[in-house]
Amino acid sequence: MQTMKPIRATMPLSEAMALIHEAATPIDRVERVRLHDADGRVMAGTVVSTADVPPFDRAAMDGYAVIAEDTFGAGRTDPRTLRCIDTIHTGRVPSRAIRSGECMQIATGAPMPEGATAVVMVEETERPSDGDVRVMTPVYPRQNISPRGSDLTPGTVVLGPGQVITPSRAGALAATGASDVDVYARPVVAILSTGDEIVEPGQPLRPGQIYDINRFTLSAIVARHGGVPQVLSIAADTLDHLHAALDSAAAADIVVFSGGSSAGEKDLVLDLVRARGEVLFHGIAVKPGKPTLFGRAGRQLVLGMPGNPTSCLSNAYLLLTPLLRRIARLPEYRPRTVTVPLSRRIVSTTGRHQFYTVRLVDGAAVPAFKSSGDITSMSQADGYIEIPTHTDIVEAGQLVDVRLFQD
Ligand code: AMP
Ligand code: MG
Repeated sequence: MQTMKPIRATMPLSEAMALIHEAATPIDRVERVRLHDADGRVMAGTVVSTADVPPFDRAAMDGYAVIAEDTFGAGRTDPRTLRCIDTIHTGRVPSRAIRSGECMQIATGAPMPEGATAVVMVEETERPSDGDVRVMTPVYPRQNISPRGSDLTPGTVVLGPGQVITPSRAGALAATGASDVDVYARPVVAILSTGDEIVEPGQPLRPGQIYDINRFTLSAIVARHGGVPQVLSIAADTLDHLHAALDSAAAADIVVFSGGSSAGEKDLVLDLVRARGEVLFHGIAVKPGKPTLFGRAGRQLVLGMPGNPTSCLSNAYLLLTPLLRRIARLPEYRPRTVTVPLSRRIVSTTGRHQFYTVRLVDGAAVPAFKSSGDITSMSQADGYIEIPTHTDIVEAGQLVDVRLFQD
């Protein structure tokens, strides 16, 4: 007969985090993705420029390519008149070199003609006739030119392993002519909701049933932190169903169960992980989210989250996010934080590290926590504060660091 299995000893959050850190091995699988799809991915190789960027000396302004010396001494009342012998549009090459006394009209990005050493901005010129240009200001050699190789030269390392591709880095890769790039694969995270009462949204609810919330909160977290969520069918509360669920997640790097991780007689995830591998911890000193377990089954890491939606989600922030990011080789996540006074006193004599949701109202943090079963205590909050284990009271007016949810 199945029985209750009370969680007697809990592990401090810091120890649980250390175990997670130790168990998580950064991913080795590499894949090639199109540059279009590379934003946020982690570089697996090194990209070196093989050519000069830009590949030619080019005009940095719309105006006239000149020999700088021809403009020396020019001024509003004493312009230099040059003969305009051609127009160079972008993507074209100049017809010939220029000589002293000559200039060419040139567009930003067009190649400089041989002989020219600077560009006079069009705003500093007048065009009295088709053939003549009056230059009203002097330019010094190389003024308004982007020299060949000024951005990159052959052999310059553009990006190396472990660097996260940002918009500007995708641009730097494109500048070298790369159309695709080697990145680390994103860890696959299987999401398994468990519970006889849990129903997929879209279906009618029968008495005693509720909709699956955790699959959506967890898959959103996974997608935001560099993983590929693999949402699997809801598993019923029997060991057979849980074994089958774990089998269906065989391709995943991380398996996240929600529900069934606590002490009730139908909470069987602990038994499952014991049967299939080893349990590294069960029960952590956090509130909400105490009945959480972590273990290994073969090469897979398994997180058993409590079913209560806020407990599940707060532990996704505290535990799953760092686990996933470490495997994905992403840097540690630092949510945007604002430091504001607390609107009213919070008493926290739980002996547990507390994750406490707050709303930001008129520059103060207002407690928003309802109960760990109520997802709206998070969805209507702006962020959360953490109250360490040994802090019992946070007074009204005390400054707190609110980690914002929107990031
Ligand atoms: P458990 O962790 O299985 O004891 O579940 C704790 C509470 O969370 C119960 O009220 C469950 O009905 C609820 N619950 C479990 N899984 C989910 C889920 N996927 N979505 C919403 N609520 C859930
Ligand atoms: Mg359950």
